[in-house]
Order: sequence, then structure tokens, then C-alpha cells
Amino acid sequence: MLASCLICDSHSWHSLPNPSDTCSVTTSGHKVGRLLNKLQCRHCGFVQIQPENMSSENFYKEEYSTYYERVAAKTFDDPRYRHLAQWMFEAVSPLKPHSILDVGCGRGWEMEKVGQLFPDAEIMGVEPSLQNSRIGADRGLKIIAGTLEASAASLPKFDLIYSTNVLQHVQAPKDFLAIQKSLLNEDGVVVIKCPDSSRPGNEMLYYDQKCSFAPVHLKLLAQKVGFENLSWRKPPATDSLLDKQLIVLGRNKGLLNLPFDIAPTFDVEENIRLRVKYVESWRMLDDYLCSQIPIGGKVYNFGASMWSYNLRAYCPQYWSQVERCLVDGFEGRFMDKEVIPFDLGLFEPGDVIVLGTNPEGQDNLKKRFVEDNIRVIAWNHIISS
Ligand SMILES: [Zn+2]
Repeated sequence: MLASCLICDSHSWHSLPNPSDTCSVTTSGHKVGRLLNKLQCRHCGFVQIQPENMSSENFYKEEYSTYYERVAAKTFDDPRYRHLAQWMFEAVSPLKPHSILDVGCGRGWEMEKVGQLFPDAEIMGVEPSLQNSRIGADRGLKIIAGTLEASAASLPKFDLIYSTNVLQHVQAPKDFLAIQKSLLNEDGVVVIKCPDSSRPGNEMLYYDQKCSFAPVHLKLLAQKVGFENLSWRKPPATDSLLDKQLIVLGRNKGLLNLPFDIAPTFDVEENIRLRVKYVESWRMLDDYLCSQIPIGGKVYNFGASMWSYNLRAYCPQYWSQVERCLVDGFEGRFMDKEVIPFDLGLFEPGDVIVLGTNPEGQDNLKKRFVEDNIRVIAWNHIISS
């Protein structure tokens, strides 16, 4: 039997198509031999995974550290975490928290940035991945290994509790928020940062992202949990955060006078239609890439990020032809491929670069290779947005 919608309790679902008929992929790059099988609520438009596809906690305990081990991850993510911290700082201002909790803090990269913005606050984190929590703790950060659910009883109260890209991973979002509410000081706030699913995007392509939240869903969920004060904020104009949203939740009405941004409108029928189209476009991508690759010559995948995880899982015929991945200025490994610095310039006539990057930036990136007379394949016109 199908589950009820976590947001509106409806049982009326639209079964979304799958990007592959054989597998799916996680945000840490692991290929999963099960289908996404996501469902979209016909009543409120919320997207959730089928209950039997909820992965076990062991995934985060044992397999999530690879996300942080992507080639050059720290270099590329450093400015992103700084922007995330600044975004939150501005959203909760003039609040001056003395105690802060980062839920799902990973290796503590954002904790460090948040600590710089709130130098008088004591900051701690909880993190289910044993390896990540240990690495963060070894760098002097106060991190408890475990899920929020398992750690809550031993935690003190906080003025600010935040999570970044965690809500969409949890099995019971309502409980997750309720626990945070119970850990707040009287005037404290919870801040949630997560993908905004108002427009279909890659956030729905991952097996471990169990839910897709548009602003309206965040608002309804917060109200269900009894938060009376809320403020939704659109993302800063930073490429890596454009598909994200932030919501500040307070326990009591009137305690804060926070600004609101206007959330994108959300039309359920239209969102279902666009989402189906989006997934269908991913289903066509493998054939498209293979049709563009010239006979002879080597195939290089440019990039080693989550977009390349998607190509590896959802475009297996293309991926099997990839000789190596290229990244500017870095070498290492990306899943089953070697990564070499692009600057090495190993190209020969007949070789081709396929962009393994966010479609949004492919037009710009493509120009760079075209100017150098390197054959390059972009696919942003295939992926519907
Ligand atoms: Zn619903």
C-alpha cells in the first residue's frame, strides 16, 4: 500500500518515471541497484520516496564520507560554506546566539565559517558518519557522532540550531523538526537550508534524498510541528546556491521581526508535468552523448562532482567510454576513473571533452574549450528545466 503524504496526508500519488531502469545513485556517488520510484503528491505536490526504499542508517554511518573525498572538494566547497554561513547570519540578524548546534555537520566545514561570524557563541555539531565526525573532532571541533534522534537526550538547549542539506535525507522530517524545536531556548530559532524543488532539478535524482521540498512544503511542515514564527529566504546570487532555500523557524510568535522574501509560486499540476519531463530528459541523455562521441580518439569527462555521479549512473554507455576525468589543477580518483589536471594538455586531434558539470553553467564553460579548438560536448539543451 502507498504511504500517506508526509506534508498533507493525502494518498493520491503520481508515480514519477525513473532516470534509469536498472539503478539509481546517492549524493555520495554510490550506485544503488534499486530504482528511485519517487512519488509526487497530487494534492500538494510534495515528492517522497516509497517507504520500502528508505535506506538504513548505516548508509550515513559508513558510506557518506566519500562525499567529502571528491577531488578538490575542500577547495571548491570552501567558498560555498562561507556563503551558506553568511546567508544564515543575515537571515537571523539581529539574533546573537550564544549556543549553536549544527545538525549533520559532516566534517565541520560550515561550523568553522559559522563560528567566525558568531565569535562569542559556543558551537557544536552532531554527525552520523563515524569517519566524518572523527575527522572534524580531530581538528578540534566539538562533534558528537550519531544522529540527532539518537543524541537528543544528551544535548543541552540552543539559541540557534541549523542544518544544511539534511532535511531532504531524513526519513521522518516532522520528527526531525520536532526534536530541534524541543532543543531550543525560549527565544531560539531553527534554520533549515535545503534544495528548493519549485523547479525540477537534480535534487530529485538521488536515492538518499527522500523528499523534495518547495517553500510551501517547508511552511506546512513547520506549522504541523507547531512553529509559529517563520521567515523564508531566497538564495544569495551565488552559483552553487541558486537552487537552495532557507527558512528560519521560531517557537513563539512575535519574538523576532525577521524579513521575508517572496517564495516562487507553486502549481502542483504544472510541477508534476515539468518533473516528468525533466526525468524523461535524463532517460534520453545516454543515447545523446553516445551519438555525439566521434569514432576514434579519447573521451574525457570534464568534472568530478555530483553531476558526474549522475552521468556515471544514468548514462552507463557513455561512462564506459570515458578514459579519464579532468579537473582544473587537481589529480586523484573519481569513482572508477583516474582524475588528471586539465592543464596537463594531453589532448590529441580527435579527442573529445564531455562536460560532466551543472547544465546551468555549460554554455559558459563550453566557450573556453571552443576557443582552444578542443572538441567539446555539452548537454544542457537536452536536460529540460
Ligand atoms: Zn501532499
